[in-house]
Amino acid sequence: MLVTLSEILSLAEEKKIAIGSFNAPNLESLQAVFEAAEELELPVIIQFAQCHEPWIPLDLIGPIMVESAKKSNVPVCVHLDHGETLEYLKKALDLGFTGIMYDGSALSFEENLENTKKAVAMAFSAGASVEAELGSMGKRGTGSEDGSGVEDKTKIYTDPDMAARFVKETGIDALACSFGTTHGIYLTEPKLDFDIVRNVREKTGGIPVVMHGGSGVSGEDFRKSIEAGVRKINYFTYMDKAGGSAAAEYVRSLSDGEPVFFSSASMAARDAMKEDVKKAMKQFALLE
Ligand SMILES: [Zn+2]
Repeated sequence: MLVTLSEILSLAEEKKIAIGSFNAPNLESLQAVFEAAEELELPVIIQFAQCHEPWIPLDLIGPIMVESAKKSNVPVCVHLDHGETLEYLKKALDLGFTGIMYDGSALSFEENLENTKKAVAMAFSAGASVEAELGSMGKRGTGSEDGSGVEDKTKIYTDPDMAARFVKETGIDALACSFGTTHGIYLTEPKLDFDIVRNVREKTGGIPVVMHGGSGVSGEDFRKSIEAGVRKINYFTYMDKAGGSAAAEYVRSLSDGEPVFFSSASMAARDAMKEDVKKAMKQFALLE
């Protein structure tokens, strides 16, 4: 069933777990996430990021996401991930999305605050909830490619006092915090600062904290983050990698001259993504 971001985060709060939030920029990932959630009977967030528009337009995948959520027998929030403009947020709300993230992390604090307030007003009239971001999680590919790794200079940690003011003035439902995770593949092992999460929770009266860049974080660090107050974990890169590896494996398994069928490669990718999502969902629900 289709539920709002705030409703699904209340379920997480009750059980002191985190809800997995997976990107669906193609039908294979969408099927993988729904099948995983239904088999495990766990609530799930399915999301689409504005930067994935070149892969598939929101106009095309959005209605499929919303309809699939309505038909599902587990609670599903359909969420817009990293919405960069208010126009794009409006588009998602018009399609029936029940959660939107406004990403004003590249703007000044005041500009981010003003735009987030507008996003909250728009979402409120559509009956949806809002996630916003304070601090910056860094950009993919800013480290060195030889594996030695360098600190990502676009990463700015969230200040708990600023978070308190931001949450109070905007009335958002969830806050994406920067406490050591990065988008994409980690070049060095992530070092997470759980005190940031605890302090943000304490100073905001318990806002659900969102972790971005969940791919590559250890099981132990997921557990500690959830204990500190993370209630939504964005996870996509490793799921996408699992799908890609399975498709490559299918191609390698063929003998010389055998035809390569795209439908077979996509099915192999879907099944591998489903297994990877199930593993992540179990960790986020503290089942393993
Ligand atoms: Zn993100």
